[in-house]
Amino acid sequence: MAGPVDQRVVRYDPERVARNLASGEWSAVPLARRFQDVARRFPDRPAVVDRVGSVTYEELDRRTDLVAAGLLGSGLAPGDPVLFQVWNGIPGVVAWYGVLKAGAIPVATLPAHRSHEIDHIARLVGAVGHVVDDSRHARFDLVAFARERAAARPTPTHLYVTDSDRADVAGASLLEALGADIDPAEARAAVDAVQERIGPEQVAVHQLSGGTTGVPKVIPRLHGEYWNNGLAWARALGRTEHSVVAHAGPFVHNAGISCGLHSAHAVGGCIVLPQADRDPVLRMMAEHRVDDTLLGQGMFHWILGEDYPAAAEHLRTVVLSGAKVPAEVFARVESLGARVGQTFGMGEGMFTLTPLDGPRHLRATTVGPPLTPGDEARVLEPGTEVEVTDGEVGELVCRGWYTIPGYFAAPDHNATAFTSDGFYRTGDLARVHAHDGQRYLSIEGRIKDLINRGGEKVNAEELESLLLRHPAISEAAVVAMPDPVMGERVCAYVVSVDPALGVPELQVHLDALGVAKYKWPERVEHIDALPRTLVGKLDKKALRADIVLRSDPHPALARGALPDRSDRPIERDG
Ligand code: AMP
Repeated sequence: MAGPVDQRVVRYDPERVARNLASGEWSAVPLARRFQDVARRFPDRPAVVDRVGSVTYEELDRRTDLVAAGLLGSGLAPGDPVLFQVWNGIPGVVAWYGVLKAGAIPVATLPAHRSHEIDHIARLVGAVGHVVDDSRHARFDLVAFARERAAARPTPTHLYVTDSDRADVAGASLLEALGADIDPAEARAAVDAVQERIGPEQVAVHQLSGGTTGVPKVIPRLHGEYWNNGLAWARALGRTEHSVVAHAGPFVHNAGISCGLHSAHAVGGCIVLPQADRDPVLRMMAEHRVDDTLLGQGMFHWILGEDYPAAAEHLRTVVLSGAKVPAEVFARVESLGARVGQTFGMGEGMFTLTPLDGPRHLRATTVGPPLTPGDEARVLEPGTEVEVTDGEVGELVCRGWYTIPGYFAAPDHNATAFTSDGFYRTGDLARVHAHDGQRYLSIEGRIKDLINRGGEKVNAEELESLLLRHPAISEAAVVAMPDPVMGERVCAYVVSVDPALGVPELQVHLDALGVAKYKWPERVEHIDALPRTLVGKLDKKALRADIVLRSDPHPALARGALPDRSDRPIERDG
């Protein structure tokens, strides 16, 4: 019998739940069991490859049983939220399935997050555990950080370390040491006992929203739908147990899970998980004969580089995502023999995907129709519930079997983030291109106020309120400045008594506030007063136009100056 559903989770309409279960869009089998079923079918096939080695399904299944039993023995209980700060690699995946098998809830925070983000999310979800990677190659000590944040919390947090070269991780447990002495059959029995009590409406994973207002929101993804979302993606691309899929972005992101880890594993395929640096990604793609990958906007320029053809030798499927795809990028992928398409997606749920046999001009210029027949997408006049006619630009809204009906513990925000009939307002502007009975979408901009820095979203309102805490700043507005590599970077317009206030001073300020580095402005413009519209509202359009005029068209590429803001571990190989 399933346990109760958390009151802070907005439930899908009961009729929809029944329909989704009857149609097979949802599954009554919890996520970790879905993984176990696949592991039983393909025990000897490689499940994960990282820069250090690989694991088979059988090994991953066994190790994660032991981790789950160890976690339960350490005091973690089913339903407990566990913050994740792990890099791409086998240790992170072991932690992911281990936590899921224990019935606990991975929270998809990032290693780049600092106290500002971690403390907020920990409070919001009531984090009980915190998993971090450790490595002597790390440029930031996540273990010390997790220990410090736990000490600042009123309630105790279990700290777990996935991958340590250090003997001393005092105050934390080495994840794989926890269950090392447990008999495998006993560990499996402990996992079974937990899984039996998980129902399809219970939260499997908490994803984070890029957000439209204020602070990041939490997106509860459910056992009933989340694995099947990955399976639907795998089926749309024709993935099988022979697929070798690379995912270079953070694997815990929704795209990393739904298009990468779960999608590859739903069909018994292999996921190759490099860190996001260009050279190791391209090297691993060639070495492991990767045949299928998703490349985000921060990676488009790799495709134009001289070493891409060698990496792409085995690529048969490439999906591009995150921003408008330059024509030369699309053509280059195609010229090397891969099927190429585009996707649009978000942690809140709905994906679109251009069918890979769809007409070339639609694969090159649109993000395709919704991924599955159960997805509903509409384009509305912004601020209304009135649909625009096909071909006109409006706000994209969506609903369906895997699109959330509400954010976690956010009733006020939910009141405006959804239409009266439950469609999620994406904040993105789109246009419908009807073709052959299908409704392809193109993304034409956005109304939500965020900056998309190579796939990481920076919430403008949140950053502005942090900048205003600087004693020398009286007004601040941040906007996206176009960037040939990242797509967008953060530019801050400030009204300040200190004319010398620049990027370094803002970085010191934001660092002191514990703000993740990818949010730090990379350009500061001083201004006497922020521009206002006739009705006195901040005129961000004017600022966006201003920064486009001021921008050097090829700044970072031309200077080769791409600050690494990830604190990723330094690669051991090569
Ligand atoms: P996330 O939840 O972090 O995956 O971010 C989702 C957001 O990324 C969307 O609401 C869009 O603003 C943006 N996005 C995703 N895919 C695309 C795309 N193909 N083109 C333009 N924007 C995109």
